[in-house]
Amino acid sequence: MTTVDFSPLLGVRLDEDAALARTVELASAQAAADRLPFAALVVRGGVVLGGGVNSVVDDHDPSGHGEVVAVRDATRRLGTADLAGAVVYSNCEPCAICRLVAAAAGVNEIVYAAGKEVVPAAIDADPATTARLIDAVTAVLPGIARAGRTGADVAAPFRGYAQ
Ligand SMILES: [Zn+2]
Repeated sequence: MTTVDFSPLLGVRLDEDAALARTVELASAQAAADRLPFAALVVRGGVVLGGGVNSVVDDHDPSGHGEVVAVRDATRRLGTADLAGAVVYSNCEPCAICRLVAAAAGVNEIVYAAGKEVVPAAIDADPATTARLIDAVTAVLPGIARAGRTGADVAAPFRGYAQ
């Protein structure tokens, strides 16, 4: 149950810059709706296959991160748990959970807009632990995530939060 609807993007062709810009827009819409400002799209062959926004609060689901919700959405739409060849675009650097779920689905990589340092303490009260978990997963799964290129204002979704 979420209020921000990414579905108009389904089937749309997006390059990296545009895909990241759309995730930033969706995350900003989340913030405007008092939701956690995270969103992701699953793209294969340049075409959007699925997407999602953070559902942790609405669904009482601690694993409802934007990337996880997007992977679940894409696998359900395709009728397979295999997303080989797909890329997940996210407005923010993915945590350890999201990296693992993407790898489990065979996703090539997660490309993100903002680095995790933009996430305010109101959202992640323990960034040191978050970073250590990311490092632990990345040691096993090098290349599962990288910073992408976009002209979007990647910090915009986080601006309403006190640092
Ligand atoms: Zn995550």
